[in-house]
Amino acid sequence: MKGSFPLESFSQLETPFYYYDTAILRETLAAITTHVRETRNYKVHYAIKANANPKLLRIISAYGLGADCVSGGEIQTALDAGFPSDSIVFAGVGKTDKEILLGLRNGISCFNVESIPELEVINELAMQLSTTARVAFRINPDVGAHTHANITTGLAENKFGIAMEDMDKVIDLVSRLTHVRFIGLHFHIGSQILDMADFVSLCNRINELQEHLSRRQIVVGNINVGGGLGVDYQHPDRKPIPDLSSYFSVFRNHLKLHAHQTLHFELGRAVVAQCGSLISRVTFVKQGAIKQFAILDAGFSDLIRPALYQAYHKIENISSEEAKQTYDVVGPICESSDVFQKASELNKAHRGDFIAIRSAGAYGEAMASCYNCRQLPASYLSDEIHV
Ligand SMILES: *Cc1c(COP(=O)(O)O)cnc(C)c1O
Repeated sequence: MKGSFPLESFSQLETPFYYYDTAILRETLAAITTHVRETRNYKVHYAIKANANPKLLRIISAYGLGADCVSGGEIQTALDAGFPSDSIVFAGVGKTDKEILLGLRNGISCFNVESIPELEVINELAMQLSTTARVAFRINPDVGAHTHANITTGLAENKFGIAMEDMDKVIDLVSRLTHVRFIGLHFHIGSQILDMADFVSLCNRINELQEHLSRRQIVVGNINVGGGLGVDYQHPDRKPIPDLSSYFSVFRNHLKLHAHQTLHFELGRAVVAQCGSLISRVTFVKQGAIKQFAILDAGFSDLIRPALYQAYHKIENISSEEAKQTYDVVGPICESSDVFQKASELNKAHRGDFIAIRSAGAYGEAMASCYNCRQLPASYLSDEIHV
């Protein structure tokens, strides 16, 4: 099983490039919108940072998802791709004045505020523009996620959010500020989370915080549980659509929402990971002293997740049916960390073979760089390529 790659079309193209299977993307989006429609007070915002390819964003915005942005550049990119400004939420620990002003001028739906100094600056800038900013507080719930240490965000030691002990203090402050309106609580505990118990812990923590606020006669309109739902990197063909049923059931069964509260989600990886593959050619097969290397024309400048997070991606030789051999699959970049996978079992590789690095739709193209003066990878949608 080699997936459904149009090899003939690929042979016309320079490698490396990202290939996006829009059927999988659309199926994922349809599944999300079905779940959301069942419960009218749910709203899903796509986390732009996972993949900001304008062609993908057009498709995603057409399904009615909102946008979750973490920079001014992302707000502009979301607006350009057709996301309505009142569906845009803006998080980030270090929002600059310029970014805040961009959000205010476009009337975005919510600033997810991560500190007291940030709240004061938003109030001041909103005053200058004679407007009022809608703000939610990003609370650090001190809930661990069972995922890679670099991608947990909801522990007390992480830089994100406002500590739970400080929640009352910011709520007192916001009531004294004239140009900000407190509309919700925001959380985001990490990424690539497959253990639903982590989201149950988040729900329990939110219930405690809501009970605490109720005792102060405070009920906010919006609860935002962030993103983080993981995908199956081992089996992209068997499980192309993430386990959305289990995910949404956790919140349906464990989170106590008040009447009229809207529950917001910010999914990134789960939306786009499985639709993308990085396609490259084998430049050389090299016999080392103790190992055999498949040297690709793609490197960590194209896909940095293996080097940065020791992330696993399934790798396939989509040109060969010959018996499998063991290779270290590496890139051409002058760094020892430029390795996609050690001891990878691939169908016997030859110079020029196409190699597909699967499940690369999220945090792949978006994190590409020009290191070593390399060009950014190109990208093609399956729609464009089947000529
Ligand atoms: C990165 C991020 C997300 C998306 O995370 P995924 O793991 O890709 O779903 C959601 N919300 C915030 C605030 C983020 O920073």
